[in-house]
Amino acid sequence: MDDKIKELKKIIDESNNIVFFGGAGVSTESGIPDFRSANGIYNMNLGRTVSPEEMISHSFYMRHTEDFYEFYKDKLIYENAQPNNCHKALAELERQGKVKAVVTQNIDGLHQKAGSKVVWELHGSTLRNYCERCHAFYGVEKVLESKGVPYCDKCGGRIKPDVVLYEEGLDSDVIDGAVRAISNADTLIVGGTTLIVYPAAGLIHYFHGKKLVLINMSATSADSRADLVIHDRIGEVFAQVMGW
Ligand SMILES: [Zn+2]
Repeated sequence: MDDKIKELKKIIDESNNIVFFGGAGVSTESGIPDFRSANGIYNMNLGRTVSPEEMISHSFYMRHTEDFYEFYKDKLIYENAQPNNCHKALAELERQGKVKAVVTQNIDGLHQKAGSKVVWELHGSTLRNYCERCHAFYGVEKVLESKGVPYCDKCGGRIKPDVVLYEEGLDSDVIDGAVRAISNADTLIVGGTTLIVYPAAGLIHYFHGKKLVLINMSATSADSRADLVIHDRIGEVFAQVMGW
């Protein structure tokens, strides 16, 4: 076993309050690309190139709802994606009482699919959708089955994904939960994020525990502060740690 894997295993063995903070890199091994990898999209209706960030902004959703949904369904919903060894390991470590919470920037619901119970989804989830008028709840199927913009069966209102769009604020209850979990942790494992994007960089400042572990394919801004840095595929790292 690699020395760094051994060290990570030792850290996990000696911790009783681990929090995992994850970004897009956690789900790439489940076949979900970082949506930012979708380069500028030439929008037929607007007659210009629109960045992926702009496509999933609040103002774009309001002004060009049909184009929003076209992009959103194509690039952000992966209804057949399955949890990888990172998701599975975190769920197993939660069952063992080691992991107390997962904080994620992902919107794919794969941590819950793997069995994790305490998951703070900073950016919401594509699996939850609400009628803007009567607040009726809809699953992801409703969005996928609708041609163009989905509308409520009960009142005809427009259905919006429970996803935090650009220009929208994060849910304060979710932020509070994430901050509380990170503040109480004895070990923080940060994975699949370069920690450049807000709020990732800010949230890890709440960590005052013993061991900070970073697992990412490339270097991150916090590498120098970490007790252990692993530059490798996160699913494979966890598979080795778990002895799978
Ligand atoms: Zn409705």
